[in-house]
Amino acid sequence: MERKADVVVIGGGITGTAILAALARYDLSCVLVEKEPDIAAGTTKANSAILHAGFDAPTGSVKAKMNVEGNRLYHKLQDELDLDIQWTGSLVCATTEEEEAQIKELKARGEANGVPGLEIWDGNKVREKEPNLSSAIRSALWAPTAGICWPFGMAAAFAENAAENGAEILRDAEVKGIRVEGDKTFTLETTQGEIHARFVVNAAGVYVDKIAALAGDKSFSIKPRKGEYVLFDKTAQDKLVKGIIFPAPTKNSKGILVCATTHGNTFIGPNAQEQDSRDDTAVTTAGMDEIIAGAKKLVPELPMGAAITEFAGIRAVSDTNDFIIGESKTAKGLYHAAGIQSPGLTSAPAIARQLAGEIAKAAGAKEKPNVKKGRPPQPIFRELSAEEQAALIKKDARYGRVICRCETITEGEIVDAIQRPCGARTVDGVKRRTRAGMGRCQGGFCGPRVIEILSRELKIPVPKVRKDGTDSYMYEEKLGGGRK
Ligand SMILES: Cc1cc2nc3c(=O)[nH]c(=O)nc-3n(C[C@H](O)[C@H](O)[C@H](O)COP(=O)(O)OP(=O)(O)OC[C@H]3O[C@@H](n4cnc5c(N)ncnc54)[C@H](O)[C@@H]3O)c2cc1C
Repeated sequence: MERKADVVVIGGGITGTAILAALARYDLSCVLVEKEPDIAAGTTKANSAILHAGFDAPTGSVKAKMNVEGNRLYHKLQDELDLDIQWTGSLVCATTEEEEAQIKELKARGEANGVPGLEIWDGNKVREKEPNLSSAIRSALWAPTAGICWPFGMAAAFAENAAENGAEILRDAEVKGIRVEGDKTFTLETTQGEIHARFVVNAAGVYVDKIAALAGDKSFSIKPRKGEYVLFDKTAQDKLVKGIIFPAPTKNSKGILVCATTHGNTFIGPNAQEQDSRDDTAVTTAGMDEIIAGAKKLVPELPMGAAITEFAGIRAVSDTNDFIIGESKTAKGLYHAAGIQSPGLTSAPAIARQLAGEIAKAAGAKEKPNVKKGRPPQPIFRELSAEEQAALIKKDARYGRVICRCETITEGEIVDAIQRPCGARTVDGVKRRTRAGMGRCQGGFCGPRVIEILSRELKIPVPKVRKDGTDSYMYEEKLGGGRK
């Protein structure tokens, strides 16, 4: 099917969805294309989930500006979009004299970047806040504006808000080619047909340079850099930390940290490994050893028996090592959000605001008069009072059937996650929106039930239900029939 739009956004990660939401506030027709069956299936699904305060990036860099502004915007967006964020603050710990000098430098840089409230704490004050930290920690940089977040939920929130304001989101829609016609129109060749557009936003994560090259722009390249993690069960939190604990940074990364999540789990990681593959997120024994050794410098007694899973994400590092944001110099009308490595999650609303503003100006677009700021309410059963739970079950009995026992997720919540605007299409899409399958058993109990619900709600046979990626079918045709 052929389509026409004012703007097409390529990529449904946090960057693309935030840009779509910002664009949909203008009188522009907007389409987002994502190659995977669901949004937030790239780097947005595997990272440290920290909203950084903004002291890491060099003063004057695009990263520094977007980080501080993005952090500020999330404080406002949290209520508007009902985002799962906890403003825990962060600590960067120093164990040697050299590292103490390093954190003082970070403080000065943060102040130059405009980060409020930075303080240096002595080791005793640090351990008063986080009792499981090593006695070797001499002092730490405290940043009160840092927080932890639920990245998939935030991408879903941006997508839902964009859909509420009339944007279209196409999944299973991979961009294979771009024809630049005259200097005014682009034709995107996608796996769901051609789309003609005046403006294109390239937010394709680790593939941004490939997309740019399709439009004849070869001005930058991306080097993938993997980061691996170990996730701990909630029961281990009292042996770990309540907030965000960094070591002193290394040349290539913020170091191996110990960090809480918004749902009471804790993780250690990431390391930083250059690799050629843009898709290889396999974890390695050497990587696990490296992050366990690194995390032990912060928390010497790690409860490894409570580890429930490992995962890895891939940073899209540009050859300038900075974000590349703005119109292509060679393909007018093509706008890049490229090299969006960390702090990309934090920066997304700031990047979105800047690019949407530039495109609206170029298009002569105006803000719509009745912009919807929020998204449809999403009941979270386990967070309701007993009276509220009873009332919800009375209204819809599916909220009385618990599907995921580890996380207490009901059938009602899973159906809602599928039926919402830009709803879940895969087992992992359900997991990322509801947490069904995120608990100690990692979906061992609820997985088959979630598959049945997806099959029923999407009206597709069980063998057509996918786990996550394009071909991630889980059942053979002969068992259920139907997959072609
Ligand atoms: C180890 C690690 C730790 C991190 N920690 C943090 C942190 O704590 N805080 C922070 O702020 N940031 C952090 N980041 C960075 C952050 O995760 C990323 O900057 C952010 O998720 C990038 O989002 P994105 O939307 O640009 O890319 P992605 O999430 O990768 O989205 C790009 C999308 O484009 C799609 N796509 C690609 N090619 C095509 C095509 N041809 N057609 C259609 N669609 C296509 C992909 O499928 C993908 O869904 C971390 C990153 C890593 C790897």
